[in-house]
Amino acid sequence: MEQYTVTELEDALKMVKRLLPPRYECLACYLNRMLEHGCSGLKWCTTYRDMRAPRATAMERRFPELGGYCDCEVMANIFRTNDELWPRLADGKLDDEYVPPCHKVRLGTIKPCELWSMRTGVQWGGGVFRAIKRA
Ligand SMILES: [Zn+2]
Ligand SMILES: [Zn+2]
Repeated sequence: MEQYTVTELEDALKMVKRLLPPRYECLACYLNRMLEHGCSGLKWCTTYRDMRAPRATAMERRFPELGGYCDCEVMANIFRTNDELWPRLADGKLDDEYVPPCHKVRLGTIKPCELWSMRTGVQWGGGVFRAIKRA
């Protein structure tokens, strides 16, 4: 058995914690943050699902159907920003520097918060995005 000091373990834990979805953060906001750490398959989606929405077992089948074969494709093809909730610069462009904090979702869902729309069906070309309404 390898031995670690308490400090080493605490530091490691802090690192791991940064990679896990906080309670009530939605999948889209989580993914958006995690993609900074790179994309490998549906790793971040499944991490989120396993921790926060374990019953969303159809996800691995559904997301590829909608064009999301890996985390960055999920972000590109399944979630879309609800632009009116994202700050704009003076010239009307979205401000890439500022990411609004998650509007929070209940535990157990892979639906995004109001900051995002989610593709709901397998409509290619155009696709259907429906804004998420607060329940
Ligand atoms: Zn990817
Ligand atoms: Zn969110």
